[in-house]
Amino acid sequence: MKTYQGTAEVKLVVGNTAAGYYKDIRPNVYIDVSKVDELVKLCEKADGIEVGASVTISNFIGFLENLENLKLEGSTNGGIDVANSSTDGTSVPHVLAAHLKKIASNHVRNWGSVGGNLMMARLYNFESDVATILLGVDAHVKIVSLGSEGNIVTETVRLEDFLGKGALENGKLLQSIWIPIDKQPSKDSQVLFKTFRAAPRPLGFALAFVNAAFFARVSENKSGVVTLEEVRLALGAFGTEHAIRARRVEKHLNGKPLTWDVIFEAIRLLKTDVVPKSGTSKAEYRVSVAGSFLFQFLSPLLEKDSDHVSEFNGLLSSGKQRITMTDEYYPVGQPTVKIASDLQASGEAVYVDDIPSPENCLHAAFVYSEKALAKVKNVDVQEALETPGTVAYISAADIPPKGKNIGLKMAISEARLFATDLVECIGHFMGVMVADSYDHAKEAAGKVKVEYDLKSVGPPILSAKDAMEQNSMFPVHFAVAGETKPIGDIAEGFAEGELKLEDVQVSTESQKHFYMETQTTLAIPDEDNCMVVYSSTQTPDNVQRSIAVALGIPYHNVRVITRRVGGGFGGKVFRSSAIAVACALAAYKLRRPVRTSLDRNTDMCVIGGRSPSTSTFSVAFTKEGRITALKAQVLIEAGYEPDFSVFLPGDFTHALKKYNYGALELDFRICKTNTVPKTAMRGPGQVQGSFLAESIIEHVAARLKLDPEIIRERNFHDISSLSKYYGAGAAGSSESYTLPSIWARLKASMNWVDREREVQQFNEKSTWMKRGLAMIPIIYCNMAGSKSAMVSIFADGSIVLETPGVEIGQGLHTKVRQAAAFALSKLFSKGRGVDISRIRIVQMDSISMANSGITSNSTTSEGCCAAVQAACEILVERLTPTFQMLQAGAPDSEVKWDTLISKAMFMTDMKVHHKYTPKQSFYLNYGAAASEVEINLLTGETQILATDLVFDCGKSLNPAVDIGQIEGAFVQGIGFFMTEGVEIDKDGRESADGTWTYKIPTVDTINKRFHVELFNSPALQERVLSSKASGEAPFLLAGSVYCAIRKAVISARKDRKNWVADSKLADQDSVPDDFRLNPPASMTRIKELCGLDNVELYVASMAASNQNIKLDAQSNSV
Ligand SMILES: Cc1cc2nc3c(=O)[nH]c(=O)nc-3n(C[C@H](O)[C@H](O)[C@H](O)COP(=O)(O)OP(=O)(O)OC[C@H]3O[C@@H](n4cnc5c(N)ncnc54)[C@H](O)[C@@H]3O)c2cc1C
Repeated sequence: MKTYQGTAEVKLVVGNTAAGYYKDIRPNVYIDVSKVDELVKLCEKADGIEVGASVTISNFIGFLENLENLKLEGSTNGGIDVANSSTDGTSVPHVLAAHLKKIASNHVRNWGSVGGNLMMARLYNFESDVATILLGVDAHVKIVSLGSEGNIVTETVRLEDFLGKGALENGKLLQSIWIPIDKQPSKDSQVLFKTFRAAPRPLGFALAFVNAAFFARVSENKSGVVTLEEVRLALGAFGTEHAIRARRVEKHLNGKPLTWDVIFEAIRLLKTDVVPKSGTSKAEYRVSVAGSFLFQFLSPLLEKDSDHVSEFNGLLSSGKQRITMTDEYYPVGQPTVKIASDLQASGEAVYVDDIPSPENCLHAAFVYSEKALAKVKNVDVQEALETPGTVAYISAADIPPKGKNIGLKMAISEARLFATDLVECIGHFMGVMVADSYDHAKEAAGKVKVEYDLKSVGPPILSAKDAMEQNSMFPVHFAVAGETKPIGDIAEGFAEGELKLEDVQVSTESQKHFYMETQTTLAIPDEDNCMVVYSSTQTPDNVQRSIAVALGIPYHNVRVITRRVGGGFGGKVFRSSAIAVACALAAYKLRRPVRTSLDRNTDMCVIGGRSPSTSTFSVAFTKEGRITALKAQVLIEAGYEPDFSVFLPGDFTHALKKYNYGALELDFRICKTNTVPKTAMRGPGQVQGSFLAESIIEHVAARLKLDPEIIRERNFHDISSLSKYYGAGAAGSSESYTLPSIWARLKASMNWVDREREVQQFNEKSTWMKRGLAMIPIIYCNMAGSKSAMVSIFADGSIVLETPGVEIGQGLHTKVRQAAAFALSKLFSKGRGVDISRIRIVQMDSISMANSGITSNSTTSEGCCAAVQAACEILVERLTPTFQMLQAGAPDSEVKWDTLISKAMFMTDMKVHHKYTPKQSFYLNYGAAASEVEINLLTGETQILATDLVFDCGKSLNPAVDIGQIEGAFVQGIGFFMTEGVEIDKDGRESADGTWTYKIPTVDTINKRFHVELFNSPALQERVLSSKASGEAPFLLAGSVYCAIRKAVISARKDRKNWVADSKLADQDSVPDDFRLNPPASMTRIKELCGLDNVELYVASMAASNQNIKLDAQSNSV
């Protein structure tokens, strides 16, 4: 304590987990207090428990759970569950422990301390759960300091008075927390204690929108009247500086006999205590949910048989996978383990950032614009360059004389590397700071002072609507313009339809790639003006070309090597190039290796994401629900550069066309906005197109008051309309159009009829939980391009394959190896002469695999398989004479591979390079999925109870890999449809900047049950080994979750109508019948659509009907 002076430069630490949230707080001195005896004590006393400030949350949980003597049996006496317990009979400590288990993760709870958490709440207004629940049990804290005589001075203060007060005075520290517990239950009353939490994820890694801990002493007289005493209502995280007590409500409830009127007034009063600070996001939602919590606490005391809400029921989930295997192309079609999965699991797999730094290696950190649109008046790097370890600032001024300021060079377009005099989005690159470590480079980048001129450029364009108003557009790329041409006569189609919906608007937001490995590069200058670059990219080709043009050197001077990529999802097709060019430029200028690995926040800020879309459609249909015409205008938001967005109309149209709309007319606009350029992202355009198709179906169904699945079925294509929409080549025959069979199979295998009835019955009985079951089809258009391969056989019989395909986790290497084993084994009578383990696939190298193209569109694996197969067939042809000669010499036993190779070696060229070009540039994939969800009307939370999915992979190249792709894509789709929203504020800053603000699916938010079946479609001779791709299409099927949520919301809104009528609060419901639920269907949006005031309406309706009952009783007695 003598050392600790309580200054800002000195930080006491226990787990130091606060650094995960407050990343910029970096004191010079740390004092570890995790082992100080007085701070790690946990003791149970007669009237409560004392918890040392350094006790970890995990140890605290363990302690609370083991306080057996406090565990009193719960009573259901008279239906009131009022033991020293929550309603399920657990004790106060157990309720606390259960809540603490929802904080962060095991890992954080094992390190993070109770005191550290409370100090975060005190110092930084952290949205703590610990503070709220401890406030609910009236905790006190003990603070110690050194007295003037060197003695220890102790003071005890109520937790309420401790929170939100900033730093402790010099030299003071938190010693322990005191939790009073009354172990002597009174005969007349019992304790009711419950805690609540509403967060984007039920278990951990998501801070709560609001949390609460409510305590009351409850008594019930003989006539069943319930009275509350000692009410303590603690609420936090709702946009408050610290957890608070709802004093007005406490006063209102204390000592009053509980009635519906009293509850109604309590919920109303709560709004005067729970007041989020101005600027709090989702403020109304938070206040509404606080009311829901209070309702959940109080209403069971009046409604003894009510169903209320089911708790999140654990992490256990189940799955079933059904595949059909054939030996036709053995070992292709076998569910073999993915190559290198063991290396990945053990951490041995080498990614770019794992390559040891060469001598003298430097690190680069990007300097980027903080304004959405501004002229750059001045960039002052003087102070930044004084940061320890900093070497240089590299910007457009450093481009060599023969080079060009470009970050991406493609065959027909290019994009700039660094902004010079104008910045056009937040995240626009201006330069890189280069230093001896990434930390130093980042620190220096943060010190660059940019002087912006905002006035001379006007306000930024931040939405598609603004772009339309200002006619800020990019032209649709000519290559896809043809794919969006009209079908049929639109005027006739509209005339044919008996009913119409006009100008309905739906939209989708962006989605971040959130790959495990962020954008990473290592650039090493080599002799003779060359550059070797290791890049995490899906397109080494682009990177090579772009670096060469930027530096003004020939393409062959740049060698780009990519062994594997830790997830790309499209984000490393185009956007990885600029990262690599910046490092290469710095390396070229400084003649030293330069590397970077973007931190997550930077990556999320500068690497675009999925293009948002806004569609306005008009549709005509018959009374039976057959659509006769569809007209839509689609606005695609590109950001300040066209990137991939200009290609989206083609993809969008393909997926939209999954239904037969009769006549179809589409108008696409590519909006240029002052946001970071959007780029390819798994299923680009097709995700948005499929969503629009389902929105149209949902709206038609709502209008006709029919089940959407009926409308879906009534608008399925037959083979003739499919040919009209997609062209006869892609449509194929009725045999290859498997969607109708897939749909029927799914309906039967998942018991659609029974399940639908069960959902209906559930909804009739349940007030606060509603279920929805929905089923959607997809038609996905896979674009297939040319791919090459090189196969080399070595003297020992081992084989090396090189393909232009980058292994990005999609299992490309695994499938390619199977294809090579199959093709080479054709020499042998049983087709099994080449052991797959003899085949190795090496990294992608832009020099040996020149002009290699892109790894994308799901079809690179099969394209590479076809190229490898063809190359192997050439080798087989070359080897056949030797094989036959050897066979003739020993007719009784089959020739061995090794013998063959050792003989053939001297006369045969053992290396083949082959380029494969598919006959058709695209083909169709089919699938269907049904999902069942349950929404909680009090908080808006959703659980996906089950998904059944059938997908046509043709004859799967590797069912294990394809199932993995299907499940992974579907889960990423859940993120898009449920949680991964990207909002943009008035300055053009995106809400999604890291793990605290952006929530991808986790074990607690994915489907509890997942059944996947690979539909074994008839042999497709025109496809590569009769297979179809699986990488992107299944993403779209997560739309079934979204549609199921819509159905659950519809069910919730039906009940609401009755409450509006009964409550007499309003003549009409403020929530209209017709509603839009744009993805992501987040808990806040779901709650809004169910009605932020639904609890009040319900309570008012109960109060009104109770009065009626009383009146009825009175009139009967008269
Ligand atoms: C990913 C993640 C998710 C999280 N989710 C949640 C959540 O949902 N709900 C929630 O409530 N919390 C959450 N937390 C916060 C977590 O509970 C806290 O980070 C943790 O409890 C802090 O403990 P620590 O020992 O690591 O504190 P440290 O980081 O070591 O210290 C935190 C602060 O307390 C000060 N301090 C520590 N001990 C003392 C002392 N004895 N006297 C005076 N000052 C002291 C330190 O100087 C520092 O300023 C989350 C944290 C992470 C990283």
